[in-house]
This record gives sequence, structure tokens and C-alpha cells, in this order.
Amino acid sequence: MTLHHRKLFSIVLGVFLASSFLIGCKSKGAEASTAPFMSTVATTPPQASDAAPLPDKTGGFDGNRAFAHVAKQVGFGPHPSGSPAIAQVQDFLLSELKSYGCTVDADDFSADTPAGRLKMKNIVVKIPGEKPEIILLGTHYDTKKMENFVGADDGGSSTAVMLELARLLCPHRGRYAVWIAFLDGEEAVKDWSETDSRYGSRQMAARLAATGDLKKIRAFLLADIVGGRTAVFPRESSSTPALIDLVWNTAARLGYSSIFTSESSSAEDDHDSFMKRGVPAVDVIGDFVHNGYWHTTQDALDKISPKTLAIVGHVFLESVKQLQSK
Ligand SMILES: [Zn+2]
Repeated sequence: MTLHHRKLFSIVLGVFLASSFLIGCKSKGAEASTAPFMSTVATTPPQASDAAPLPDKTGGFDGNRAFAHVAKQVGFGPHPSGSPAIAQVQDFLLSELKSYGCTVDADDFSADTPAGRLKMKNIVVKIPGEKPEIILLGTHYDTKKMENFVGADDGGSSTAVMLELARLLCPHRGRYAVWIAFLDGEEAVKDWSETDSRYGSRQMAARLAATGDLKKIRAFLLADIVGGRTAVFPRESSSTPALIDLVWNTAARLGYSSIFTSESSSAEDDHDSFMKRGVPAVDVIGDFVHNGYWHTTQDALDKISPKTLAIVGHVFLESVKQLQSK
């Protein structure tokens, strides 16, 4: 009797799951015309514990949209600087940003690397403010040059967060301008060194120094490796102390102290290109040393949590608000 009921239960459950799967497929098709990237998401449902909070709990930031942006980038396959695939990522970024009504500036340049001269492109969203000073946000979107490496977390996650931030920030004018930089060539082409790494951020900082815009930057908030399901963010100790405090205090106020921890670590990253020129900067970077998949082919979509993306997005939104009020 019990057994029979149990069996019946599992059959009913099976039918239920099958029908939800069909419903899932149907909505996947229905959405394809407006948001083709959603189909990639439907094939890899995140765990319930990784579900994004409702956007109204995270300042409007939509963790599911951000997750879809990671999936879209992963779908292009490995996209190191200068590859045909990275051109597709660039087109995707430009078309998304234009669909949000953002003003976008693209800087095409080439860089001498151990693999020869490579074409690269920095893409910068420019939201004007009432004053000329600038709050700069940034990410790198290139992936490490390595076979089968798609960089869902390293490259994809922070780029997804910046896209969603652009959607929310582009329609509004604040006291200060907000620029959002999508940087090429963060990863070393061969071995990480001062000359083989951070090509995009070094290019951007040098260009802004030449135009005089560099000294208008009040703060540079960089995100990198920010989407992991088990992500924790120690305070990056080479960053500007006042900006570390601003971001981590903001995270604490929002209730994210267990993720934005009081531990310290240090990372060489795109913020260095600006800090070396005197720009205050902070790197919000997940603990990649202990995540178990950094710079391996395991850095794939199954490591990404819509919830983590939403939390980081919320912290960035509130940190920008703080900076706008000063
Ligand atoms: Zn990397």
C-alpha cells in the first residue's frame, strides 16, 4: 500500500517534472524572438539556493539578466584578445549597451604581445553628470588564452554585472559622470608580467592621461571574478584604503558581511594601471586562489550564481550612490 502510493507519487512527480520541462522549452522558444540569449540559460537551471533575489531587493539589479549575460558570453566559446570569438563578444556588448540607450565610446588599438601584435578594443560607456568629475567602473571581458577556457567567472561574471549596471545607470544623470569600462587584454598572453598583462587598462589610463581626463576620475571601482556560487570577497589590500572602506561598509550595511569579509588578500589587476597614475581605485575580486577552478577549464557556467551576481551588483549600485553624494 505504502509502496504503491510511493510509486504513484513518483510517477505523478515524474509527469509534473516532464510537463514543467515542456513548459520551460515552450517559454524558451517564445522568448527567443526578443531575448535569444535566454535559451542558453534555460538549459542550465541554477540551484535553488543560487536563485537571484527579486530586483526590488537589490536596487533594481536583476541577477537573472546578469546570469543570462554570462551564459551569452560563455556561448561564444573561448575569447582571448585578438580572436574571432572576441569580436562577437564586442558586437554583443555594443548592441546590448545601445539597446539601453547608453552613449558608448570604442577605442580600437593594437598591442605588442608575446604572440605578436594583437588588435584590441576598449568599450567605454559615458554617462554625463552635472560636474566634470568621473566615477569609473570597470571589468575585463577577454578570457585567458587557454584551450577550452571560457572564463564564466573570470571575464564573464564582472562583464555581466557591468552590463546590468549600465542598463540601470544609463538613463540617469547624477552629480558626477559615470563611466563604465569594458576592458580588453587583462589576461597575460603568455606569462603574467608588467608588460604581458592589463593591456586594455594600461591603454585606457595612458589615453586618459594624454587627454587630461585621468585627473577627473574620483574613483575607479573594478570588478573581477564576482559570480561564483561560493564566492567570498576579501578586502583587496593594494587598493585605496578609503575606497575599500566605502565598498565593504556599504556591503555590511546591506547585510552582505558574510560574503564581503573582513579578511585581506591582494591581487594584481586592472586597477593597478590606474593606481600607478595616482587614481584612487578598489578591486572587488572573488577569492580566486581558493575557488578551485581559477584559470582552469572548470571555470564554466555551472560555477555561476545569479544570487552572487545580484549581491555584487547591489553593492556597486549603492557604492556609486555613496560616491555621487560626496
Ligand atoms: Zn584571469
